[in-house]
Amino acid sequence: MFLNQLCNRTNLLYRIRQMSSTTREFLANRPTYAQDVSKLQPFIDLAVDWQASHGVVLRAPQLSGADAPWLKAALTPAPVALAPSPIPRTEFERVVQLQPILNQLFHRIANDHEFLVSTLESLGSADEFTARVFKMYLDQRELNVEKPAVIGVHRSDYLIDAPAAEPASVPRAKQVEFNTIAASFASLSSLVGDLHRFLLARTGYEGLIESGSIEPSQLPTNESLTSIADGIAAGFSLYGNSGAVVVMVVQPNERNVYDQRWVETGLWEKHHIKTIRLSFAEVLEKCTLDENNRLFINGEEIAVAYYRSGYAPTDFPTEQEWQGRWLIEKSRTVSVPNLAYHLAGCKKIQQVLAQPGVVERFIDDLGTADLVRECFVGLYPLDETKDGQDAVQTAKSNPDKYVVKPQREGGGYNTYGGDIPPLLEKLSAEELRGYILMELIKAPGFKSVLLRDGALFASEVVSELGIYGIWVSDASGSVVVNKHGGHLLRTKSSDVYEGGVAAGFAVIDSPLLV
Ligand code: ADP
Ligand code: MG
Repeated sequence: MFLNQLCNRTNLLYRIRQMSSTTREFLANRPTYAQDVSKLQPFIDLAVDWQASHGVVLRAPQLSGADAPWLKAALTPAPVALAPSPIPRTEFERVVQLQPILNQLFHRIANDHEFLVSTLESLGSADEFTARVFKMYLDQRELNVEKPAVIGVHRSDYLIDAPAAEPASVPRAKQVEFNTIAASFASLSSLVGDLHRFLLARTGYEGLIESGSIEPSQLPTNESLTSIADGIAAGFSLYGNSGAVVVMVVQPNERNVYDQRWVETGLWEKHHIKTIRLSFAEVLEKCTLDENNRLFINGEEIAVAYYRSGYAPTDFPTEQEWQGRWLIEKSRTVSVPNLAYHLAGCKKIQQVLAQPGVVERFIDDLGTADLVRECFVGLYPLDETKDGQDAVQTAKSNPDKYVVKPQREGGGYNTYGGDIPPLLEKLSAEELRGYILMELIKAPGFKSVLLRDGALFASEVVSELGIYGIWVSDASGSVVVNKHGGHLLRTKSSDVYEGGVAAGFAVIDSPLLV
């Protein structure tokens, strides 16, 4: 990004910070939603049919492993919130403005070989999966593979820290994690915003809103339906073969197919780029490399490989899948993300970044570095260093304030509260190097109504805001695109800790700016 743009952004961020209202004001200005779902039944048909006619659907769960061909066509509406959930407007605007700074920060991290090596080596042999990705990164570096572009499709996730017990405090968006690989739900998220706009216009949410109101101006536009396809298309054009194709690397039993198909539709209808869906095993089976290091499928050159798989050990059940990925990585094809980007998204990197001086290693301007740091909560190693040993003790004596995370993506791997001390007892010192300790963010609960499998559920919920980030740079490092790419709101019942939609914990929602 040009320096003056960055300065303008920094000034704007300072101004936004000064406009913030207190937690008391935020909590008081939220509408309240009726909790008697028996009176809300007419909303079900309206919402479900709108979803079906706009592609806010998933493959039915029984599809996994099913042989019956007709089952391939069995769809189910994606789980959604019936109405938008409140997010403080100033915090929403702040993290939107912050996203290009984070895109640039992660680009610099990914290009700092020494930093990646020292941070990932500190994991020791604790994490086989990350070690394997790291090894592939080193092998690729040794081959000196030339890639015509770098494309980043990120999502920075936040919970709102607004303790009801501290009404005079200012609500703050705190970062849960920064995803650099396979960030999903961009398409469905934008469409759920449209669903809420439709229900508001059509029904006024009559019967649902008990007190307060919802104005259309409180529902922000969301460009996440198109931002990923546009970003991939910008990177594609740097590859230099307009007749080439994009391969989307997918999981064989993917249920969230339509969220992905929307990206494919955007590439085709707006940019005339064809997408071919393949698993890593199929990449190995069907793709070939020519003498110029170009990758082909059935005679068509592959300019970009966009990964919606490859973030979990389960995506590599055999050597075939690893070799499929390696075929892409050693070719000229631009992988999204590249190996360094994938590694930069590790939870260990997030923890090290929170240590004094580390953000500043990548961002010279101390004011801008401060704006990044404002999103962090306490993050600690659990290794044999003094900090690590102190963190183990703190977590054991105050487990309710923390979450323990391994180097995993995709939801369902973390340990919370009372489960933390036995975990810390069980793990060896070597194993503990693969984990980090994070302070728990206590987001305020809100009484909402969720629609899942054709039925309504009233529940106290908590929302997690994700901001997509799109980055494209060319082979010389010049920045072509650096922008925020819209947002995602996922909402879950407040009595569960984990928040993934695909993992079955949350629903797709949209923000109501308060
Ligand atoms: P994953 O890569 O599996 O998505 P996350 O770090 O996003 O891992 O954690 C999964 C979920 O756990 C989040 O979506 C959030 O609901 C919850 N969570 C993670 N970290 C925190 C935290 N510090 N405070 C509160 N909840 C958290
Ligand atoms: Mg997550």
